[in-house]
Amino acid sequence: MKNKIVSILQQYWGHKSFRPLQEDIILSVLEGNDTLALLPTGGGKSITFQVPALANDGLCIVISPLIALMKDQVENLKKRRINAYAIHSGLNHYEIEAILNNCVYGDVKFLYISPERLETEMFLLRLPKMKLNLIAVDEAHCISQWGFDFRPPYRSISKIRSIVPTVPIIAVTATATPKVVDDIMEQLAFKSKNVFRQSFYRENLLYNVAFEENKTGRLLQLLNEYTGTAIVYVRNRRKTKEYADFLIRNNIGAHYYHAGLTPAERDRKQMEWLQSKIRVMVSTNAFGMGIDKPDVRLVVHMDTPDCIEAYFQEAGRGGRDGKQSVAWLLWSKADIAESQKMLEASFPEPDFISKIYNALGNYLQIVVGAGKLSTYDFEISDFCSRYSLPAMETYSSLKFLEKEGYISLSDAIYSPSRLKFLVDKAELYRFQLENPSLSSFVELILRSFSGLFTDFVRIDEFALARRMNADKSIVIKGLRQLDKLGLLAYTPASTSPKLTFLSDRIHHRSVIFSPEHYFNRKKEAIERFESVKSYFTSSSKCRSQILLEYFGETNPRRCGMCDVCEKRNETGLSEYKFNEILKKVKPMLKAGPMLPEELIASFGIMDNEKALAAIRWMMDNGKIVQSKDGKLFWK
Ligand code: ADP
Repeated sequence: MKNKIVSILQQYWGHKSFRPLQEDIILSVLEGNDTLALLPTGGGKSITFQVPALANDGLCIVISPLIALMKDQVENLKKRRINAYAIHSGLNHYEIEAILNNCVYGDVKFLYISPERLETEMFLLRLPKMKLNLIAVDEAHCISQWGFDFRPPYRSISKIRSIVPTVPIIAVTATATPKVVDDIMEQLAFKSKNVFRQSFYRENLLYNVAFEENKTGRLLQLLNEYTGTAIVYVRNRRKTKEYADFLIRNNIGAHYYHAGLTPAERDRKQMEWLQSKIRVMVSTNAFGMGIDKPDVRLVVHMDTPDCIEAYFQEAGRGGRDGKQSVAWLLWSKADIAESQKMLEASFPEPDFISKIYNALGNYLQIVVGAGKLSTYDFEISDFCSRYSLPAMETYSSLKFLEKEGYISLSDAIYSPSRLKFLVDKAELYRFQLENPSLSSFVELILRSFSGLFTDFVRIDEFALARRMNADKSIVIKGLRQLDKLGLLAYTPASTSPKLTFLSDRIHHRSVIFSPEHYFNRKKEAIERFESVKSYFTSSSKCRSQILLEYFGETNPRRCGMCDVCEKRNETGLSEYKFNEILKKVKPMLKAGPMLPEELIASFGIMDNEKALAAIRWMMDNGKIVQSKDGKLFWK
């Protein structure tokens, strides 16, 4: 088996050998074990489910949260001549049906599917007929409500497992605390616990923190100090542009990026940055997932992040190529208050949330008792202005409804116009005879595109309009008419974000969150922020150590390079000596305050100097505090 999987790796990817753990994970899957793989960002998670799927006959279903990610992976597989498809809310009914049929009767190898599609009848009816060899769950932390990115539709995965109980499952993630790790295996109904964990320690990535009131000055300094590609993360869309303009004024090539840009703009900026034509990307957290640029040398956070999980992922985009890279987090006093304000705003009152639910139903014209799994183009700004709603609270309410499993919101994706005939050629001919006024239009469509009877074909309304010497709107009107008559299925192009109702609309008074549930959610969010706050406010513990301990690693080593380690190195003491002094000083001071000379005297003559250096460091870094009467005590 080992030879077989190595040759698959070489044949399809051209990589010489597996990275540490990849092979163990793949072999575990091939033995039929349910498997959870924790690998750092860039660790090569995709290969751990793609290779075993290729090693056996049959189809692998991959559940993934982001349409952009799915599209990327499918394109990547297709480039390697592997038959892969994606099903998501950007497709119409007919397209989904065709793909699913292909999965039953064709030779599809990978089916990427967004979790909210798993419980559709169309999928469930066909699932038992598919020859499945593996279920893969990407970004598996999304299944846990203890995770920072809980997505209720992920819960459907355990239901589909019960339909195909013998098919093994692999779950992969780059961010999971110990609680989340256990929860993933439980929620996915693992037959037995089985985790492969590669330490999240990143040898070549340096984590630094600076308290800084003049952030723009510092940013410029950092970009001058570290050459090469950089990402600058900021909290909101407005700042992306402000900082990018500031950098450009200072002769540093920069783009700004956020979810409010059109897909075309985002693609262009991303491409120029990927090709290193532009050095710096200033972005909100919308940028990054699925982006695989190896040579990012610097990641700067200009605002404090919401939680360690998010910070770790964003900072982790530096140095994927293994070369030395650095992450900086800049914070100021105002940040903490600002973060707390944002946190409050992300939990609107429950009454307000149900009001939003109701307005949403009206806006999308869904009647009570209907609407399950219907998808709509959805622009939040239009929704807000129609009902005069405050943007921030509305956004937070929608996010809350999403977390509770009522709706799902998807990123803006571009889908081109598509068309397929629903009748055969003979019937179409009859139609043309009966409707002479539409006949030449039908004729033109037939002449302009091929394959329309068998598949959805991308069309360009503008090209049709030019040939007809007419306006594009006339063409669209004509196509809509033919669609209404049941002759063809026409899906106009769309770039809007999508909103899907996950269950039938209920009366808004039934939208209830138990107070306990609501407050628990809020409490967890506050705790997450407290953890990240203690990360950046600490001045006495190695940054890398704090991060790794958060993810449950025991006794991670000091990195020796971060701002904290660096200062400690200045004491000139070896780690061993420093720890020896610390071990002695801490219990003494905890027992009661002492004068410095008393404390020093407890060390032998030989160690006086060293003890003094270590104690001075502990004072500088807030571990030891001196009271007015000169006595030292442990903080
Ligand atoms: P992740 O999803 O863990 O962030 P990916 O699966 O996207 O990472 O892989 C990151 C990069 O590493 C990809 O470019 C991939 O082709 C490459 N890679 C993965 N495994 C190997 C390997 N064994 N040898 C060389 N490159 C690899």
